[in-house]
Amino acid sequence: MLNDHDRIFTNIYGMHDRSLKGAMARGHWDGTAAILGNGRDWIIEQVKTSGLRGRGGAGFPTGLKWSFMPKQSDGRPSFLVINADESEPGTCKDREIMRHDPHTLIEGALIAGFAMGARAAYIYIRGEYVREKEALQAAIDECYEAGLIGRNACRSDYDFDVYLHHGAGAYICGEETALLESLEGKKGMPRMKPPFPAGSGLYGCPTTVNNVESIAVVPTILRRGGAWFAGIGRPNNTGVKLFAMSGHVNTPCVVEEAMSISMKELIEKHGGGVRGGWKNLKAVIPGGASCPVIPAHLCEDAIMDYDGMREKQSSFGTACLIVMDQQTDIIKAIARLSQFFKHESCGQCTPCREGTSWMWRVMERLVTGEAEVEEIDMLFSVTKQVEGHTICALGDAAAWPIQGLIRHYREEIEDRIKARKTGRMGAMAAE
Ligand code: SF4
Repeated sequence: MLNDHDRIFTNIYGMHDRSLKGAMARGHWDGTAAILGNGRDWIIEQVKTSGLRGRGGAGFPTGLKWSFMPKQSDGRPSFLVINADESEPGTCKDREIMRHDPHTLIEGALIAGFAMGARAAYIYIRGEYVREKEALQAAIDECYEAGLIGRNACRSDYDFDVYLHHGAGAYICGEETALLESLEGKKGMPRMKPPFPAGSGLYGCPTTVNNVESIAVVPTILRRGGAWFAGIGRPNNTGVKLFAMSGHVNTPCVVEEAMSISMKELIEKHGGGVRGGWKNLKAVIPGGASCPVIPAHLCEDAIMDYDGMREKQSSFGTACLIVMDQQTDIIKAIARLSQFFKHESCGQCTPCREGTSWMWRVMERLVTGEAEVEEIDMLFSVTKQVEGHTICALGDAAAWPIQGLIRHYREEIEDRIKARKTGRMGAMAAE
């Protein structure tokens, strides 16, 4: 369990003063000018040493990502873009940072922006996050007033602006290139890569897009040293992390914990246990809706980190768990996610546009049992034709939950089809 003195987010529950004064009293904005004084290379090296990996789902090493930004400008400005679009069903961690601990993010933006030679940071916040936007904007205003950002930020001879942009509520704008399109005032449709944002991102300029939590942890890492962060968790999966739990736990919550905590400990200690006890657990979606479901018997020894989730044929994602107990109609639950991804597809590429609709329609029939057993394999093969064949990862996100369902609950799907055929459907959960 994480020691209190290793916590980065000291106001995640909003119990204390979130203003600049309160944040400073808790140690934020402490020695920021000295951190900048160590130079770009030192900052990037420390972040590399820390082993920090992107907290938005992909898990790409953060320091390495920053090092892709050009060292010398070719005349174009560079930008840092912070992805605060948090729209994945089940994921609700970044909002706690923005509404209760916003200064961690702004200080992180300044340091990260400095490390990559960025002229400004654009924070793209989800349309529905109205209160979070207000809290963040108030914090940005305070920082300008105190000279912490803006011209000669922290008296470092470095000019750095922070802009907050409110999205309109489309899930696809959480995809980094769709987000850039949206920021530029266009329809939020993902771009083909390459070129990658580090070469040509916002307004055709070098850009790095990072998740809120990835940026907000940086100041503390630099104050305490990359080695401190690297000493928490296990190799390749280091540091502290915000975990969230929703669904059938007794106390749904967001909690900061050490990486590589066991799933069981996380649920039992922080989530108050599964409704009806651990034996009543049916499955867990470990990191937001796109992560394949993990059945209860594999949850027993599951480790909550990137490698641990991969070992279970799932993905760490955003580490926001959706817990489902035995009373859950798992087929219906996954069908609901299929509907979500179908609805959020931007329609640009055929496998996603057609595939998500097709998969959802078959899923709906599996829910009622009005399907043939052979269609299960057919559905699985369609998910494979969508996966990896689209411009952005939404195609994969739609395919993976269905693959997880078929991998672990084929028997239940078949039983339902058979029950429908033999007229036993009344006893099934789908009704
Ligand atoms: Fe749009 Fe889907 Fe293609 Fe992504 S995968 S670009 S959401 S159609």
